[in-house]
Amino acid sequence: MKSDVLIVGGGVIGCALALKLAEAGCKVLLMERGRLGCEASSAAAGMLSPQTESLQPDEFFNLCIKSRALYKNFVAHLKEASDIDAQLREEGTLFVSLPHLQDHADEWAQWQLEAGLRVERIPAEELERLEPAVTKQATRAIFMADDLQVENRLLMLALAVAIRRAGVTVIEGEAVTEVLLDHQQVAGVVCGSAKIYAGAVVIAAGSWSGALLEKFGVEAITIPARGQMIAVQSAAIRHVLHSSQVYLVPRNDGRLLIGATVEYSGFEKGNTAKGIRALLDAAIELVPEVADAEIVETWSGLRPDTPDHWPIIGESGIANLWLATGHFRNGILLAPITAELMMQSLLLNRTVDQLQPFGLHRFATLPALHS
Ligand SMILES: Cc1cc2nc3c(=O)[nH]c(=O)nc-3n(C[C@H](O)[C@H](O)[C@H](O)COP(=O)(O)OP(=O)(O)OC[C@H]3O[C@@H](n4cnc5c(N)ncnc54)[C@H](O)[C@@H]3O)c2cc1C
Repeated sequence: MKSDVLIVGGGVIGCALALKLAEAGCKVLLMERGRLGCEASSAAAGMLSPQTESLQPDEFFNLCIKSRALYKNFVAHLKEASDIDAQLREEGTLFVSLPHLQDHADEWAQWQLEAGLRVERIPAEELERLEPAVTKQATRAIFMADDLQVENRLLMLALAVAIRRAGVTVIEGEAVTEVLLDHQQVAGVVCGSAKIYAGAVVIAAGSWSGALLEKFGVEAITIPARGQMIAVQSAAIRHVLHSSQVYLVPRNDGRLLIGATVEYSGFEKGNTAKGIRALLDAAIELVPEVADAEIVETWSGLRPDTPDHWPIIGESGIANLWLATGHFRNGILLAPITAELMMQSLLLNRTVDQLQPFGLHRFATLPALHS
């Protein structure tokens, strides 16, 4: 039976959208070539921190702030729908300035204050009281009390249960090889030798989304940006900590995540000595007792970047083909707002106004069908 919407990619974006659509009464098929959440969405650090290092107010920043505001309900709803708690934490983020590292903390703190966001300048003595394990070299910090974090691996497990319970048909272990065209419209997808028909197709395939658009002459629209991560066993800190070189994210289970590199090395995953050394050096500098912590895991993932680092969300320019991809460093944060606005757009059959700045049209049109 033909689905209303076929989603390609079972990361946080594809799954969050599948849930929204199914709950709105749509018949949804989600196709994932590996397992749900097997790529960037499980590799992430789960920070929901749009304010850190945001240099200017723009549509992207506003989208991030709106999504953060949806997060408590998103996680509470997922818990109800799946019986899995994604461990939202609300301690906020501390951005720590170190004497030899240049940062623009004063600038972004100032415009955010003027914009009415909660930002607090914390002197060194107060920082020592809040986070005693931070290096005594720290000169001050900026506290963003409204920032959140979520255990993104649990979030993916919760989504995987919730979408099935909501009636989404999930096919894992099958890669979509091509978008299927019929009379100048998208009619479904090709998967090996099978053709699967659907009313609309949404490409939410993360870093691999661009490959599915190449047949239309559009190249390099998603660019993989590798991030290496380390987890150590340490209860040294309570807040998410940032310097301009590294971030540290404390988890409920006693792990402390250290991340992350940003490397443009193609689709190559893996950890390198150079990447791990840089992360550990920066982490130990920020919180010296990390030096004695046991390393429990290292991993890496591919963030779906785009030429201007903004996501690509909405209609593609070809009838029935939609995009929800390119969320780069903020896909966990942006999942609820992407799902909400894409669901509205699909039901209206036009991209809603809030998504207009994020259209594919800013880079390219899909020429093959326009002639
Ligand atoms: C190290 C690291 C740290 C990060 N930290 C944060 C953070 O703290 N906060 C935050 O908000 N974001 C963070 N991110 C970014 C975030 O992880 C991504 O933006 C987000 O996961 C993207 O979700 P996605 O669903 O688009 O992509 P993915 O999670 O990559 O999912 C895409 C899915 O599509 C599947 N797929 C690909 N091609 C096909 C095909 N042809 N057919 C079928 N399936 C296909 C893949 O197997 C994959 O499962 C981080 C990323 C990394 C790597």
